[in-house]
Amino acid sequence: MLYHSTRSLEPRVDSAQAVLEGLAPDGGLFVPEEIPYININTCLRESTMGMANRIISAMLPEILDMPTLVEKAYRGKFQTEELTPTVKAGDFTVLELFRGPTSAFKDVALCMLPQLLTKAREQKGMTDEVLILTATSGDTGKAALAGFADVPGVGICVFYPDGGVSAVQRAQMVTQEGSNVAVCAVRGNFDDAQTGVKNLFAAAENGKLPGDSRSLSTANSINIGRLAPQITYYFKAYSDLLRRGEIQMGDKVNFSVPTGNFGDILAGYLAKRLGLPVGMLICASNANNVLTDFIRTGTYDRRRPLHKTISPSMDILVSSNLERLLYFMSDGDTALVAELMKKLSTEGSYQVPAQLHQKIQNEFWAGYCDDEKASATIRSAWEKTGYLCDPHTAAGWAVAEQYRAETGDMAPMVVLSTASPYKFPGAVLKALAEPESADEFLQMEQLSKLTGVPVPENLSGLQEKTERHTDVIEKTQMLSYVKEKK
Ligand SMILES: *Cc1c(COP(=O)(O)O)cnc(C)c1O
Repeated sequence: MLYHSTRSLEPRVDSAQAVLEGLAPDGGLFVPEEIPYININTCLRESTMGMANRIISAMLPEILDMPTLVEKAYRGKFQTEELTPTVKAGDFTVLELFRGPTSAFKDVALCMLPQLLTKAREQKGMTDEVLILTATSGDTGKAALAGFADVPGVGICVFYPDGGVSAVQRAQMVTQEGSNVAVCAVRGNFDDAQTGVKNLFAAAENGKLPGDSRSLSTANSINIGRLAPQITYYFKAYSDLLRRGEIQMGDKVNFSVPTGNFGDILAGYLAKRLGLPVGMLICASNANNVLTDFIRTGTYDRRRPLHKTISPSMDILVSSNLERLLYFMSDGDTALVAELMKKLSTEGSYQVPAQLHQKIQNEFWAGYCDDEKASATIRSAWEKTGYLCDPHTAAGWAVAEQYRAETGDMAPMVVLSTASPYKFPGAVLKALAEPESADEFLQMEQLSKLTGVPVPENLSGLQEKTERHTDVIEKTQMLSYVKEKK
């Protein structure tokens, strides 16, 4: 199946090449020429790994040996063979995406991406090593490190803002083992680290840094190899509801998705296009509510301050994957997408045509939840249903409640849970009780004592682990750092 850019019908590459390249040469994102066919009934009867195999094979048909890749990616790495279990919590079904090796939903995609990338590399006869460069505000870095650690033919270098990630997130990254990993703090904020990485890509010629043989790539969610594995858990949630007799085949199910870069919720839209009976896709934001405004008004305007919130993975003003939605919803109008993206970069805003806006509103509903509301939701969800959510999940929960109150649509609601509460123990604890300590690891213990919810194994032993990556550099030193770390 051929892929091309969201901004033109070029280049036409197969799915393996699209995974290798990540981003199209014109700056657009890769999209498939057509939506593939899958047999929904057969797919829904499979195990989660069986579903992953069918769905990822359909999306990326040129990547061979998919059952083996899926096995290698997931078997034994998650807390359960189901990978992404669902739990009843009051009137909602919570889809838990954080049962993977780093307790973040990004594990679902970042366990799979290294398998897809190395297979694509092998099939294309690439001999050069691939170097993954990533800037992280916390969650992506660790999930990418865990996914790529000791993967042959690939190296990974993660930059995070010095003092700009939580103590838990820092500990997760600096204790990472593996012979091919580098982790480094950059003096500055997340934007500085991200701009630094973008500058490295800009300094590359033919995808390589001057005097360096490695081909640069990214683990960012713009890669189609990250998006495809995320479609699976929408099917998994639907099949759970079917199996429990809560719905009949064909019944519509709504999904509420804590949204940042729009990758997670776009996977839900693709699940719908593949034929899954998805009802409304509910886009939940925090105080950075640029997507709420867009879906409600049709105008995207990034010219606003970025708020630091208790759900940092959603602190985003430019949601990259929205570009793919504009492509699909405009029936593949690449000229329009190119024009809108140009406006976004030169003017900081764009408005979509009324008809396109209407189409988006038929499928998506949006709302947002500030920190105060998120705290109140963590508390009320815990008190009313006994479910302990992290601040990102709380946003999804609160906006799902808002959707029902405003629309009266009481169709079954699945709330996507994107992080373990123990990744953000301070904020979760504060919502429930007075913290006894400012130390995040002691807060974890206090939270566990208070709620009886166990700390995930990968987080509980972190303080005792050896710190392996203690480098701190200036942003001007990133290039020399990458070249030295071989
Ligand atoms: C990345 C992330 C999100 C946002 O997902 P997108 O695909 O970027 O929309 C939400 N919650 C958590 C915990 C995350 O790590």
